[in-house]
Amino acid sequence: MSKIGTISNTKSTLDKHDFYIKKKFGQNFLVDQNILKKIVEIPTITKDTLVVEIGPGLGSLTEHLINKSKHVLSYEIDKDLVSILEETFSNEELTIINKDFLKSDIDSDIKALKMNYDNVVMVSNLPYYITTPIIFKIIEESTLIKEMVLMTQLEVAQRLTSKPSTKDYNSLSIAIQYKTKALIAMKVPRNVFIPAPNVDSAIVKLNIIDNIVKKPISEKLFYEIVRASFGQRRKTLVNNLHSKYNIPKTELIDILVEANLNPKARAESLSVSDFIDLSDILYSYK
Ligand code: SAM
Repeated sequence: MSKIGTISNTKSTLDKHDFYIKKKFGQNFLVDQNILKKIVEIPTITKDTLVVEIGPGLGSLTEHLINKSKHVLSYEIDKDLVSILEETFSNEELTIINKDFLKSDIDSDIKALKMNYDNVVMVSNLPYYITTPIIFKIIEESTLIKEMVLMTQLEVAQRLTSKPSTKDYNSLSIAIQYKTKALIAMKVPRNVFIPAPNVDSAIVKLNIIDNIVKKPISEKLFYEIVRASFGQRRKTLVNNLHSKYNIPKTELIDILVEANLNPKARAESLSVSDFIDLSDILYSYK
């Protein structure tokens, strides 16, 4: 029997602790046991897995993660929630770091646990106001986390997983799909949270690609070109790149032809691989 993630348990915990929900921290607590059970079936978790969770809240997802894994390491910014979590869970099953996740050093926190584990996965019902910086932080800074199963706004989940020439495809889609295999595992309606958010949600699964087959010469330039290319969505690639780099348009057309791209193309028609080719040609040009 669950101790936490139901409507009545959540309401009584909030009452008992005189806790008011803080919108500024993106607090929407999961209160549906069926959804919680489904979420923890998505990642690869065994009794030898270390799970990292951002924002355990009142611990509804944490409880399920603890039951399946070796240990959970969690980051919670709200100290009022930390004291509730400490009453609910033991130190053996859960380590809580009372900190803004964006200011953390993930891999050193994991190493500081001095624990043996088979794999490290991140599972989290994210605070939506910082979804993108959180995902980028993990991808850029952690070498230990290989899989992420994250609740995000449905719209963001669609961006992360969208394909070229679709309306949701943008610079975030390309950056994520360069480093991970991304898919939507499940859609989640708004009525399974307290309070209900104004948007629908989805669970995305991101698996870090271990050996990226095709890499740009400079990742920094690749990301910069991707962002610049989507600068103004209605403009062609040539116009967006011209605004960013001030390279004459005639030369940009030659560059696109060299990259086997249509000189009239817009950014949304290019694949990750096309952007890598373009970035490498511009790298030599600059
Ligand atoms: N996991 C809980 C659940 O599913 O019911 C709560 C999820 S709620 C959407 C997001 C949680 O992230 C809240 O507990 C909030 O306090 C916490 N949070 C917000 N910003 C944070 C940050 N920068 N670092 C760590 N935790 C944060």
